[in-house]
Amino acid sequence: MSAKIISGKDIAAQIREELKKEVEEMKEKHNVIPGLVTILVGENPASISYVTGKQKTAHELGFNSIQDDQPEDISEEDLLALVDKYNKDPQIHGILVQLPLPKHIDEKKVLNAIDPDKDVDGFHPVNVGRLMIGGKEAKFLPCTPAGIQELIVRSGFETKGAEVVVVGRSNIVGKPIANIMLQKGEGANSTVTVVHTGTKNLDEHCKRADILIVAAGVPGLVKPEWIKPGSCVIDVGVNRVGEKKSEKTGKMIAILRGDVDFEAAKEIAGAITPVPGGVGPMTITMLMKNTVKSAKTSAGIE
Ligand code: NAD
Repeated sequence: MSAKIISGKDIAAQIREELKKEVEEMKEKHNVIPGLVTILVGENPASISYVTGKQKTAHELGFNSIQDDQPEDISEEDLLALVDKYNKDPQIHGILVQLPLPKHIDEKKVLNAIDPDKDVDGFHPVNVGRLMIGGKEAKFLPCTPAGIQELIVRSGFETKGAEVVVVGRSNIVGKPIANIMLQKGEGANSTVTVVHTGTKNLDEHCKRADILIVAAGVPGLVKPEWIKPGSCVIDVGVNRVGEKKSEKTGKMIAILRGDVDFEAAKEIAGAITPVPGGVGPMTITMLMKNTVKSAKTSAGIE
């Protein structure tokens, strides 16, 4: 039987609708509007496109959204002063500095200068620590892993006691999703194994997974015979494997493939995310969710 396709597009749209209502209610009842600033340094086309996507979504949800464009040659000192200005601005609840930054600026220094209580990306060391501690301590979950958890939960998979195998140990996907799934609580409480380039018998671990999360960045790494029948497969990988002409625009566009052999895997798994259209659409949505959470916390709204 063919697997259920987990549509990140549909689930993200559903969460955005929920957020839109929450934002309306916050405005009406408490006169609070979530504020998100995205700081863009220079004119990197990919960065412009990411920032534009984030601002568009924030705007659609009724946020107070500010795009702050800075020239490529801004000094590190001035950029740090700008971050500090937004740290102190009570109308701003989320600060996002789009990466990469120009070479003369120390990225780590800038990211670490963001107030952890406005770090809606969830990468500040304080928030990484809060996630490790878990429970109420966890404030902002990093967006892609938080999106993965939503996909699993909203697809109706039982996470409590489930064998979760995570392929990949990066700081942005592998480690945080492993940490999220092992927390004691709703939508987690799983038995987690993390496998990586140092792991022996990768296939044997994957075969045990009730929930298999793959974030390796290697197209087709996970073979269909590694998948447990009926399991939930979340393919985080986004790999450009070539180019094709878009039927809509006639322009050349990238051909994207995941880390899992989708066509064969969908005949074995119980549910699987496609690439594109799976994990991808969730990331910006979770950024918005974190910003709403930040605004609520700072206004003392439950
Ligand atoms: P990364 O390169 O930082 O980490 C990859 C991890 O996979 C490493 O820990 C490595 O040990 C492991 N790995 C690599 N090859 C392996 C192999 N052959 N066997 C076992 N383990 C192996 O990558 P990342 O930033 O975590 O991203 C992973 C993938 O997810 C990429 O394709 C990336 O584009 C994608 N991604 C998608 C989204 C999204 O959709 N929103 C967000 C982030 C990353």
